[in-house]
Amino acid sequence: MHISQKISETKAFLKIIRDKKISIAFVPTMGALHRGHLSLLEEARRNNDFVVCSIFVNPIQFNNKSDLENYPRDVQRDIRLLESAGCDFLFQPTESEMYPEPVTETFEFGNLDKVMEGKFRPGHFNGVAVVVKRLFEIVKPDRAYFGLKDFQQVAIIKRVVKDCEIPVEIIPCRTVREEDGLAMSSRNQLLTQEDRKQAVIIHEALTRVKDQVGSFTLEELKAQVLDLFGNFRNAKLEYFDIVDMYTLEPISSWTESKHVIACIAVYFGKVRLIDNIILFS
Ligand code: AMP
Repeated sequence: MHISQKISETKAFLKIIRDKKISIAFVPTMGALHRGHLSLLEEARRNNDFVVCSIFVNPIQFNNKSDLENYPRDVQRDIRLLESAGCDFLFQPTESEMYPEPVTETFEFGNLDKVMEGKFRPGHFNGVAVVVKRLFEIVKPDRAYFGLKDFQQVAIIKRVVKDCEIPVEIIPCRTVREEDGLAMSSRNQLLTQEDRKQAVIIHEALTRVKDQVGSFTLEELKAQVLDLFGNFRNAKLEYFDIVDMYTLEPISSWTESKHVIACIAVYFGKVRLIDNIILFS
């Protein structure tokens, strides 16, 4: 695996690859890799000739300073994992390489960033859009792989690609879970043992909602989830929203949309976890 911290070197290296007319896949990450990330790499490996991964803890997408400071980092372990997953090239820029000047670029997402993650993490998606657009300009991939655990992020990235006319195919990939159902996340390792055990309730609540769609009104199911989290002293529910999968607009009855997803964000202590489940589509 070739590793570079430099934009110019990465561009030059990948130009030679591109000139060979072979397909380039890209998997952007913030490191502290787990099986969720590796599943994106495996998917990329299966369907492309050359696989590029990036590791960059993007400061401008963190709206909370301590979240950025505490974000897990273990680059040596990540490199070992990437090598065994068959990654061909790792782009691992520094902050000054990515942002030599203060960032002023702003994006318009319509409703997509007014709800859920966008509502509770002001500026988050603008920071995501800035970094992903820059990374796409550097790597110029044919296909880029993103996890559906971050469902709203996938919608935002599709919008950026469309609005900026970036010639890349976005491939959404299914969420990889721990054996007990908890969605894999780099932040899981920050949970206390007790909170880690309790965090299984997130996926349990979502699957319970999915199982009961036909039996209760939407308001009844939302109330049940709020009640459920009320009983967990360690957990603080930030939002539980049932929305249209394309517009991300909250719906108020089951007949309002044919494509419906439930999305949730929960704090265990200072650790914020998100997850989602498609209710029907
Ligand atoms: P991150 O390093 O958290 O920015 O994530 C990098 C990519 O991995 C994003 O596209 C995430 O959606 C994806 N990802 C993170 N966790 C999972 C998971 N449990 N299953 C599948 N993809 C994931």
